[in-house]
Amino acid sequence: MPPNSTDESNGNLKVSERKEYHREYSKKDAEWVNYAKKWDEIKHFVSQLKWFNIILLTTLHLAFVWAAIAFPWLQRKRLVLWNFVFSHLTGFGIGAGAHRLWCHRTYKAKLPLRVFLMLCYATAGHNPLFYWVRDHRVHHKFTDTDADPHNSKRGFFFSHVGWLFMKKHPDVKRKGKEIDMSDLWEDPVIRFHQKYFIPLTLTLGFILPAIVPPLVWGQDWFWSIISSAVGRYVFVLNITWLVNSAAHMWGTKPFDNSISPTDNKTVSMLSFGEGWHNYHHTFPWDYKAAELKYAGYNVSSVFIEFCGKMGWAYDLKSASPELIKKVVVKGGDGSHLVWGEEVPESEEDEIRKATKQQ
Ligand SMILES: [Zn+2]
Ligand SMILES: [Zn+2]
Repeated sequence: MPPNSTDESNGNLKVSERKEYHREYSKKDAEWVNYAKKWDEIKHFVSQLKWFNIILLTTLHLAFVWAAIAFPWLQRKRLVLWNFVFSHLTGFGIGAGAHRLWCHRTYKAKLPLRVFLMLCYATAGHNPLFYWVRDHRVHHKFTDTDADPHNSKRGFFFSHVGWLFMKKHPDVKRKGKEIDMSDLWEDPVIRFHQKYFIPLTLTLGFILPAIVPPLVWGQDWFWSIISSAVGRYVFVLNITWLVNSAAHMWGTKPFDNSISPTDNKTVSMLSFGEGWHNYHHTFPWDYKAAELKYAGYNVSSVFIEFCGKMGWAYDLKSASPELIKKVVVKGGDGSHLVWGEEVPESEEDEIRKATKQQ
C-alpha cells in the first residue's frame, strides 16, 4: 500500500522504526560493531573472502576487457544489435520484474506476464529471484548500515562488486531473516524459478543468446559465444551494480537530502530507468522508479504501461505531483528543476506548514 504520510515515504521502514533499529543496533551490537570497525580500518573488510567468486568474476572481467578490444565491431554489427536487443529483455526481467514487481510490488501482474518476466530475468544470469528480492528488501530497509548487503558507506568498490567477494556481514543475515518473504513463496512462478534455476539460467542466460546468431543468420560461433557469455553478461552485471554504487554516491538528491541514494542520469540511461535512485528510495512503491515516465531511457516504465494497456499489469502505483512537491520542499537538496530552489519563499512556507500538519 502506498504510504499516506511523508514520514513513511522514506523506504519501507518508517522513520521512527529506522531510529529504533539504529538504537537497537548500537546497543546490542556495540561489541561487534567496535570489532568490525577496527577490522575495517585495518583490512577494509570484515568477512571471509569468497575465492570462487573472486576468481570467476576477475577472470570474466579480464576476458571482457580483452573481448572489448579484440571484437571486430565493424564486421559484426548484427551481433552487436542482437546483444543490444537481447539486453532489453534482461533489463525488463531485472527492472520491471525482480525489482518493481516482486521486490516492491509497485503493480500487479497476471500469470502470463509474471512468466515472461521470470524468463527475462533468467537471461541475466543473476542469483535466484528469491535471494535477489530478499537482498534488495534488506537494502531498502537498512540502507547504509551493516545490515545493508552492499552498504555504500564501505566505499565504491564494496558496494559495486566487493560485497560479492566476501561473506555477508552477520547483520545482513540476521536482519535478512526478519524480512517477510511469504508473498514470494506464494507465487508459483517464483517457486518454479527456484526449482529450475540452473537449467533456466544456463539455457536462457547463456545458450539461447549464443546459438541464435549462428543458427539464424550464420554468425560465427566464436564471437557469438564471446559476445553473449562474456560481453553482454559482464556489461549487464556492471550496469546493475552501478545502481548500488554510483547511484549511492554521485548525483542529486531532489527528494530526500538525508539519504545516500542519488538521482543519476547516466546510470538511468544504462539501466533502463533504474538510476533515479533518490526518487526510488523516497517512493519505493512507485512503478516508474522515477518521477518522470520517460526520463533517462526508462523503458521499464514504458513496458509496464504497455502491459497495463493490454490488461496484463494492473494496480500501477504512482506518487501524486502534490505529494512529490511536498516531499521535495520538505527534504530535497534544492536541485529539483520545478520545485527546487526556485520555489518562491512564500509558497515554500505554505507547503512546509501543510506538510507539518499531516
Ligand atoms: Zn539503493
Ligand atoms: Zn528498490
